[in-house]
Amino acid sequence: MLIDNNKVITINYTLKNDDGNLIDESNDGSFCYLHGADNIIPGMEQALHGKTKDDQLQLSLKPDEAYGEYVEALTQIVDRAMFDVNDTIEAGMQFQAQSENGQMIMITVTSVDGDNVTIDGNHPLAGETLHYDITVVDVRDATEEEISHGHVHMPGHEHDH
Ligand code: ZN
Repeated sequence: MLIDNNKVITINYTLKNDDGNLIDESNDGSFCYLHGADNIIPGMEQALHGKTKDDQLQLSLKPDEAYGEYVEALTQIVDRAMFDVNDTIEAGMQFQAQSENGQMIMITVTSVDGDNVTIDGNHPLAGETLHYDITVVDVRDATEEEISHGHVHMPGHEHDH
């Protein structure tokens, strides 16, 4: 079965940056996604299209094929009072926020100076060229429910909609 839209693809991969440092990996068959639904970065989805089980790929993806260029304007300093008073705010924390156009984005706290909290709306891998080693582990048809939800339903993972 070839990788095409509305298939559920399981891959093992390692991700390294330009310096050759390991950033992320999945090697136990636990990473899967719905093809054609923007679940993964565009460069990887394009490269996997038409591939099949046991195929191996090596990809080097520029920022525009991965997590985008780093945009300085997405950093800002906000007041400590913006956050829940009970939370400890420290550099490296991440949380979800809604952007002006309604998209959910991941915000990272990059520094804390008294009541001044610097936040960064860039993806942590924005601006990076990414190097992937990928093995296709499995390709199956998505269920109608998965297609209508736009994501994979993992057995044993309950989720609310
Ligand atoms: Zn769902």
